[in-house]
Amino acid sequence: MDKPYFIKETKIEIYKDFDGKCGHCGSTQALEFHHIIPNTILNRKIYGNERIQSKENGFLICKPDHEKANIILKEKRKALKQKWNAQINRQREKILLQG
Ligand SMILES: [Zn+2]
Repeated sequence: MDKPYFIKETKIEIYKDFDGKCGHCGSTQALEFHHIIPNTILNRKIYGNERIQSKENGFLICKPDHEKANIILKEKRKALKQKWNAQINRQREKILLQG
């Protein structure tokens, strides 16, 4: 899972999880895959590419809503960042305690 985008298998899982509907308005038209935490080089460095390209970071959204995705998903993005930061901190503590 080192490709810097959602692989096909992940897209299929996201599509199924969202029941083929926009996660915001329920539309089944013009659906697109969106990264809740943006797929940037910096975020891939901070959280790891595996997390960024995971289905947990995926959101199925219609094209009109995609343009407003940053606002629509603000709270979700915040919650996921908190969850991932906690995971990363626990991993760091584990490594420190082992050393
Ligand atoms: Zn929509």
